[in-house]
Amino acid sequence: MIDLHTHSIFSDGDLIPSELVRRAKVMGYRAIAITDHGDHSNVDFIIPRIVKVCHKLSDAYSIRVIPGIELTHVPPQYICELASECRQLGARIIVVHGESIAEPVITGTNMAALQSPIDILAHPGLITAAEAFMAAEKSICLEVSARKGHGMTNGHVVRMARAANASLVLNTDAHAPQDIIGKEFALKVATGAGMTEHEIETMFRNSELLVERALRMA
Ligand SMILES: [Zn+2]
Ligand SMILES: [Zn+2]
Repeated sequence: MIDLHTHSIFSDGDLIPSELVRRAKVMGYRAIAITDHGDHSNVDFIIPRIVKVCHKLSDAYSIRVIPGIELTHVPPQYICELASECRQLGARIIVVHGESIAEPVITGTNMAALQSPIDILAHPGLITAAEAFMAAEKSICLEVSARKGHGMTNGHVVRMARAANASLVLNTDAHAPQDIIGKEFALKVATGAGMTEHEIETMFRNSELLVERALRMA
C-alpha cells in the first residue's frame, strides 16, 4: 500500500509522525506521505519538522516516508505562490485540498491548484471536464478518497478522469489510526467507484511513480 495523503498532529491528525508511520508499516505500507493542512500561517513551521522526522523514520523502518503538505482553504489566487514556497521548504508531495462536496471549499480552488506546481488534487468533488483535462495536461493526479464524506464523489471523479485521460491515485486522508487501510480495502473503494481491474492497477502504479519522483527530488 502506498498512501500519499495523511495527517499528523502538525495539523488535525491524532498521531505524531512516528506513530503514524509505525502504524502504517504494521498495516503493510511501503510508502507514506505526511501531508498536514497548510496555509500561509504554518507551512514554514510544519515542513522543516516533517522533513527532519521523515529522514529518521525512513532510515529506521523499511518504509519510504515522504514529507509533504496539503494546502487547505488557501484562497485560489495564492495557491501557486504558496505551492512554490512549500517546494523550496522541502515538500516532495504537494496536495491541494480540492472542492469536496463535504466542505465549503471555495469555487476556483480546483482550477487554481491545477495551474500550480503540485502533485495531487485531493477529493476534487464535482470536478468539471475542463479541470480534468487540465489535470491530464499538467500531469497532476486526481484523488480517489477512502475518507468518509470526501469519497462521496469518487464515482464522478473516476468518470471525469477516464474521459480526460487524467491520472488517479487512491489515498486515505488518514487523521486517526482507524483510517489507515490495507490494500484489500483500497481495492474495495476503487471497485466501488466503478473502476476496472486494469484502471485500479494503473492507479496503484501512479502512486509508485509519484514516490519515485519524490525520491528523485532529494
Ligand atoms: Zn483535504
Ligand atoms: Zn487531508
